[in-house]
Amino acid sequence: MTTTAVGDLKPRLTRGAKAAILVVRAGLFVGLRYRCPCCGWRVRAFAGQWSIVGTSPAGYCPRCNVKARHRRIWRHLGNHAELGGDHRVVLEVAPWPGLARALRRHPRVEHHGVDLRPTPGCADTRGDATALPLRSGSFDLVLCVHVLEHVPDDRAAIAEIHRCLREGGLAIVSVPLGFDGPTDEDPSIRDPDERARRFGERDHVRAYGLDLADRLRDAGFDVTLYRESELDPAEGRRFGLKGDENIFHCLKPHSAA
Ligand SMILES: [Zn+2]
Repeated sequence: MTTTAVGDLKPRLTRGAKAAILVVRAGLFVGLRYRCPCCGWRVRAFAGQWSIVGTSPAGYCPRCNVKARHRRIWRHLGNHAELGGDHRVVLEVAPWPGLARALRRHPRVEHHGVDLRPTPGCADTRGDATALPLRSGSFDLVLCVHVLEHVPDDRAAIAEIHRCLREGGLAIVSVPLGFDGPTDEDPSIRDPDERARRFGERDHVRAYGLDLADRLRDAGFDVTLYRESELDPAEGRRFGLKGDENIFHCLKPHSAA
């Protein structure tokens, strides 16, 4: 929730305007209370969306503009040493610029982004999640963060992620996840207001339950769910996490010899 409306700039912003906002905010928000794990900046608060002065608990990093979900993913990758070791070829499906930049700064990461609309420095490849224009077995790690809830044929997208990973590779999948029942979906619902009411956002096509793990297993993954509620609370306070970002850690097993 944004607590200050002054300075909110919600109309479409140019890339230059966004870059300028990040520079200004990085200075205005300097502090000691939190640290953004993606860019390392120390801040007194997190920000509202493209707001210069408005703050938001567990909101956007003032400097690199990652959301809490991206900070959670970055911490997960670090805690599980997924970016350690040798050269890592990483695919981010529908990448988020701040996370993509953090990955591209990493000395052992070769980052590729794929999206319906290419973005310089972030998504170089134009492609649909359900038909990735990428070679099979060519990635060590695939990130798919809050994408599947937008994709009508999510099983096709999951199959594509599995295909593009090498054997022994890992997919990190996160979605808005409910714990009260199975996945709720109805492809006949096209009205954005009805989608928002039933699935949480105007462009969501379903609301996932824990049975997403079954869809991931059906594609051939070994799946482990890491719940944010099981994290050390101090980690959440330090890095401005929300407490509800849950990660499906999906290993593509080696095929039997
Ligand atoms: Zn940051």
